[in-house]
Amino acid sequence: ACKSVQSALQEHIEKTGLENEIKVVETGCMGPCDLGPVIMIFPDGVFYRKLKPEDAAEIVNEHLLKGKVVTRLLHRPVGSEERVADFGQLEFFKRQTRIALRNTGIINPESVEEYIARDGYRALGKALSQTTPQQVIDAVKESGLRGRGGAGFPTGLKWEFTARANGDAKYVVCNADEGDPGAFMDRSILEGDPHSVLEAMAICGYAIGASRGYIYVRAEYPLAVDRLETAINKAREYGLLGDNIFGTGFNFNIEIRVGAGAFVCGEETALLASIEGQRGEPRPKPPFPAQEGLWGKPTVINNVETWANIPPIILNGVAWFASIGTEKSKGTKVFALAGKVNNTGLVEVPMGTTLREIIFDIGGGIPDGKKFKAVQTGGPSGGCIPEEYLDTPVDYDSLNKLGTIMGSGGMIIVDEDTCMVDLAKFFLEFVQEESCGKCAPCRIGTKRMLEILQRITSGNGREGDIELLEELSQGIKSSALCGLGQTAPNPVLSTLRYFRHEYEAHINDKK
Ligand code: SF4
Repeated sequence: ACKSVQSALQEHIEKTGLENEIKVVETGCMGPCDLGPVIMIFPDGVFYRKLKPEDAAEIVNEHLLKGKVVTRLLHRPVGSEERVADFGQLEFFKRQTRIALRNTGIINPESVEEYIARDGYRALGKALSQTTPQQVIDAVKESGLRGRGGAGFPTGLKWEFTARANGDAKYVVCNADEGDPGAFMDRSILEGDPHSVLEAMAICGYAIGASRGYIYVRAEYPLAVDRLETAINKAREYGLLGDNIFGTGFNFNIEIRVGAGAFVCGEETALLASIEGQRGEPRPKPPFPAQEGLWGKPTVINNVETWANIPPIILNGVAWFASIGTEKSKGTKVFALAGKVNNTGLVEVPMGTTLREIIFDIGGGIPDGKKFKAVQTGGPSGGCIPEEYLDTPVDYDSLNKLGTIMGSGGMIIVDEDTCMVDLAKFFLEFVQEESCGKCAPCRIGTKRMLEILQRITSGNGREGDIELLEELSQGIKSSALCGLGQTAPNPVLSTLRYFRHEYEAHINDKK
């Protein structure tokens, strides 16, 4: 749909003969999914939404030629009578703090010049010319940045472990195997701002003493793969990747590896095995990748959003980054709002923003006047949070206390019509399907749990089923080999914690 609107605009601009004065620039995603396709007119800052190719003539003839805003194509926020022309006035954008998404939806991702114009590669230049590798590691450590892929491990510490490990070669890896249902944060960054990841990986290469990096990206993201390829080629052309970067003698190259889309390959040891050309199966840890990673060599592996935070930290300083967020969770987090919420899409907010602000102020609340019931964070590894905790500030620790996790940033909102046992079953079906089958607790345990949920939801639940689910959950959590299995029971445990009565009602009422 975006492409057809783009072509129509281009065609009508060409008809006016002003194609040298008015450019149609394709950017990455701006975030508000339910409003798309969207365009922004510069320099006015006017934001048009839900466009069709047939709207192009009016935009060109009225707005671009006569300077008149086409009111009918402006957005009218939920609950408002007013249409809003300036995107900066929309609650959806106004309440966000964009660090990882700073360029996404703003620059042409295929133009290295546009990235450079927004301070791109300045952080790499600063790192190489003004700091030692240890100073770069110290900066990342002191910033308080924690991994955005799910576990929340301190990024600087991971870099330090790798830098100190013995190895004749070291590697830098980007985990772009985003697989949680409803999550598309990493995809958006890769499609909208690929150079931010390349620059960050090069900075890490300098810090830990690596000269090669790999980006492992799933094949279901073909546009991200294309944009990464273009970005790598452009960066090489400009001497920003390759040999003797900025004439400093530092060499760093990046290759792309396209994964076949197995969810388990998002687990770091499975991902590394897949890059090596082996079957993508997890292996026991320790040794951790920082000691023995790719081809047995010390390896830093971070996810896309973590990487996208690195250049601004180096450029703007530790104090700036550490001033955003909460005491133990610094900076911002990108969330993908999905499900029963008015404004679906990508949002980036400071850590510590409450769930209510994210879902109601930015997300616009629940459609059709329905009541909010719960939000699932952390995808199939996370859990649900009911209404009474809507004022919880979102950070790693507060979500853990509620029995869920930050995860990579998926937020699925459900309304009063959703059966929470069905929701738990959906996520368990997903992990059952994606289990690699290497270890019995996950391979067999999740299957048994799924069978119990199937009989409960089909009206054949038995006395003792809930207790059996709890027992199996604890067994799987404590004995599965990797994070996929260890967290697989979380949706069941959290729905049991907050909505046990729904399980009991299914069993007692036989429906
Ligand atoms: Fe494979 Fe599941 Fe075991 Fe992980 S926990 S190794 S996904 S079977």
